[in-house]
Amino acid sequence: MAYDFDLYVIGAGSGGVRAARFSAGFGAKVAVAESRYLGGTCVNVGCVPKKLLVYGAHFAEDFEQASGFGWTLDDAQFDWPTLIANKDREINRLNGIYRNLLVNSGVTLHEGHAKIVDPHTVEINGERHTAKNILIATGGWPQIPDIPGHEHAISSNQAFFLKELPKRVLVVGGGYIAVEFAGIFHGLGAQTTLLYRGELFLRGFDGSVRKHLQEELTKRGMDLQFNADIERIDRQADGSLKVTLKDGRQLEADCVFYATGRRPMLDNLGLENTAVKLDKKGFVDVDELYQTAEPSILALGDVIGRVQLTPVALAEGMAIARRLFKPEQYRPVDYKMIPTAVFSLPNIGTVGQTEEEAREAGHEVQVYESRFRPMKLTLTECQERTLMKLVVDAKTDKVLGCHMVGPDAGEIVQGLAIALKAGATKRHFDETIGVHPTAAEEFVTMRTPVAG
Ligand code: FAD
Ligand code: NDP
Repeated sequence: MAYDFDLYVIGAGSGGVRAARFSAGFGAKVAVAESRYLGGTCVNVGCVPKKLLVYGAHFAEDFEQASGFGWTLDDAQFDWPTLIANKDREINRLNGIYRNLLVNSGVTLHEGHAKIVDPHTVEINGERHTAKNILIATGGWPQIPDIPGHEHAISSNQAFFLKELPKRVLVVGGGYIAVEFAGIFHGLGAQTTLLYRGELFLRGFDGSVRKHLQEELTKRGMDLQFNADIERIDRQADGSLKVTLKDGRQLEADCVFYATGRRPMLDNLGLENTAVKLDKKGFVDVDELYQTAEPSILALGDVIGRVQLTPVALAEGMAIARRLFKPEQYRPVDYKMIPTAVFSLPNIGTVGQTEEEAREAGHEVQVYESRFRPMKLTLTECQERTLMKLVVDAKTDKVLGCHMVGPDAGEIVQGLAIALKAGATKRHFDETIGVHPTAAEEFVTMRTPVAG
């Protein structure tokens, strides 16, 4: 049967655009549907605007530290509407770039909500299009627990468009988004509380990293409340919010921001018209080739809930394009040693196993740790300390994991990830000459394992 398209991609986010562009580049006839914004979550309400706000928040400490270097900055003022307007302008520019990328690579763009009506047909804007393959790349959506008063809370989707900076913010959650946005609000001058239901935030990260960040955020005056969860939220007569915790305590805030994970975006997608199955957590179930239970339908990125990071969605998009239309170049995505950063202030950068994971996997572990006051701060009052940690297999000398909390940790860990992927040993690290004077050189000068 002749189809209208070889590939119909639903969702022009990180993964969908990558799969569409490269498939078209390999000669396939491709369409992509987008219901909201070109570039998806990352460009519009994710990585990019988040990083811009983090840069904005960072100025607070730059100004504070400048006096140690002889600068006088009288009465620095911050204007939230300016930051948001400038951010919006940049995102508009990026939306245009995404449009050009798609059109110039020969992809047909359909703007509207796409629904799958049968395994080879998509309906959008009242029209039906057939395709040999359909790719679900619809991403995720913030998930707020259904507590009384949840309608008063916002998620990251709204945070990027607040009209003004709230005076008192309560951030709920202990993952990437909670920690990053708590840093943004706190840095920009809001009185910020981070509320997490467990013992210590950032579950899954290395224990030393979690504790170190806790100490640094506390030093900076952020209110961290662990083992705390919200029972209900009430709007008060003056417009502020009264938050009642499960332990009976009450807190007041002008904004309650929930960052409690993301669900797959499957709303009105028509999966009931297919054999596509969901996994236990409700994400689209795929095999190692991103194939769903419906032979003509594939899925990638946040909607499959494996690793919810943009570079991973990009890699999956590339793998799918190659497998379908350039099989001789196909290489599976390697999910090992994925580096990642949390753009908290200070940043976390990490790659490979945590100490806890390495021990659990049965390695005899040697740990190297260094904590120091970065050189830039020696002329300032700032007492922030940087943490660097190496997790090494004592038998093979292989470096299993690198972890850092400190300025530019995200930048530093990218290079370390290449070393770890290439199988670097501690000896390789020791024999590497440092770049002096940098913080990063500490990763090649740690000589004595910590007792453990
Ligand atoms: P998305 O980028 O979400 O794209 C899905 C697209 O599909 C959307 O544009 C949506 O409108 C569209 N769509 C959905 N349903 C339909 C339909 N039925 N019809 C038509 N279109 C539809 N990752 C990092 O690596 N680094 C970071 O710093 C980072 N920061 C983040 C910060 C925040 C606040 C958030 C929320 C996420 C962040 N992420 C970050 C994660 C990253 O944004 C996602 O992993 C990535 O965007 C996933 O790409 P995707 O292609 O799977 O989906
Ligand atoms: P995460 O899954 O990272 O964290 C969710 C947090 O919310 C956890 O601390 C979890 O607690 C808590 N939580 C979950 N449900 C509830 C509940 N019902 N009540 C109270 N707390 C709850 O999700 P995020 O929303 O922070 O981010 C989504 C994903 O987006 C990330 O996992 C990441 O992959 C990606 N991302 C990446 C970024 C980056 O690369 N810098 C930045 C932002 C997002 P518990 O630990 O106890 O389960």
